[in-house]
Amino acid sequence: METVETVVVGAGVIGLAVARELALTGREVVILEALERFGSQTSARNSEVIHAGLYYPPGSLKARLCVRGKDLLYHYCAERGIGHRRIGKLLVACEEAELAALARYAECAAANGAPLRPLAAAEVRRLEPAVRAVAGLYSESTGIVDSHGLMLALLGDAERAGAALVTRTPVAGGRIGPDGIVLRAGGAEPFALRCRCLINAAGLQAQPLARQLKGFPAARIPPAFYAKGHYFTLSGRAPFRHLVYPMPDHAGLGIHVTLDLGGQCKFGPDVSGWPTSPDYGFESGLEDKFYRAIRRYYPDLPDGALQPGYTGIRPKVTGPTEAAGDFIIQGPRDHGAAGVVNLFGIESPGLTASLAIARQVSAALT
Ligand SMILES: Cc1cc2nc3c(=O)[nH]c(=O)nc-3n(C[C@H](O)[C@H](O)[C@H](O)COP(=O)(O)OP(=O)(O)OC[C@H]3O[C@@H](n4cnc5c(N)ncnc54)[C@H](O)[C@@H]3O)c2cc1C
Repeated sequence: METVETVVVGAGVIGLAVARELALTGREVVILEALERFGSQTSARNSEVIHAGLYYPPGSLKARLCVRGKDLLYHYCAERGIGHRRIGKLLVACEEAELAALARYAECAAANGAPLRPLAAAEVRRLEPAVRAVAGLYSESTGIVDSHGLMLALLGDAERAGAALVTRTPVAGGRIGPDGIVLRAGGAEPFALRCRCLINAAGLQAQPLARQLKGFPAARIPPAFYAKGHYFTLSGRAPFRHLVYPMPDHAGLGIHVTLDLGGQCKFGPDVSGWPTSPDYGFESGLEDKFYRAIRRYYPDLPDGALQPGYTGIRPKVTGPTEAAGDFIIQGPRDHGAAGVVNLFGIESPGLTASLAIARQVSAALT
């Protein structure tokens, strides 16, 4: 049986960032990816926003790793020529009843080290003439990034530092023992592989994978929930220059305006179901909900302007009736299984935080 020092399971943005970080610190790293291509799951089905860090409870991993990750990401994008733009974001209150929530986000953002500038209705109008709001907050440090370009750069760095990516190789489970971790990999030619360290960056499959590791304490595996979101694209020219967000809803950030680097405008993601397993199908009958939500802040949205886009699924550790959970990054000090780091619930702002999460994983192994 072959032995490698470190196996990273999953080649999404998190697995790739972790593999890069560990390879750069001199570790021997193999990335095992179930699918044919890297980065084709959640990392390819998101809003590609570099978040400022304004929503998450102060002191939480989401808050700290988002703010730190944002700085690292802007620096990395500039250094490596990865497409990105610091375009700024407006968080808007559409009615007086939302002003208290707006004030709470201003406080939370300041506590997280991501200060926002208050905007009166007229200033919102000046920045975004198509938007109607009673007040808003401006986040200067919010931006957009080419997520595929980012993943290509991370993989390139990891490979140059000696890491290897093996695709079409689903890890079916394994066993943790005194002689290390033995993994069972499927695919066309199933094999077993021994490693000293295992990073579980399997995204939506992180909990099922942890459950398949014999010797891992099952009590430390949080429940897995999947919150589905849909995006609609706007046909025609975007009337916005910034990202525009309404007040967040329970499990998401509200149906907001996102612009990509090509200037395409899209709206979403909503929260339209909690499937028991990942399912990317685009549901019918959501148009009315989207038109209603978007017209609260963009009343001139023309009839027929929305086209079905794509879906994404948030990997969550709390369910529809619970408060939002934090990222869970568990190392040997947390669960007692030598060499194992699990990443659970890496939903938004995971893309923004990816480089900071990678550093946290590296620290968890020391
Ligand atoms: C709708 C939506 C919008 C979002 N918007 C933003 C945003 O604007 N900004 C932001 O910062 N974050 C955003 N996020 C969060 C961000 O997209 C995720 O945090 C990030 O992509 C998670 O990456 P990952 O590598 O953990 O997961 P993934 O990209 O899903 O990668 C996991 C990989 O593991 C592989 N895998 C699974 N099981 C196995 C196995 N057993 N063996 C081998 N391989 C396996 C999968 O095939 C996959 O390639 C959003 C998320 C969603 C759902």
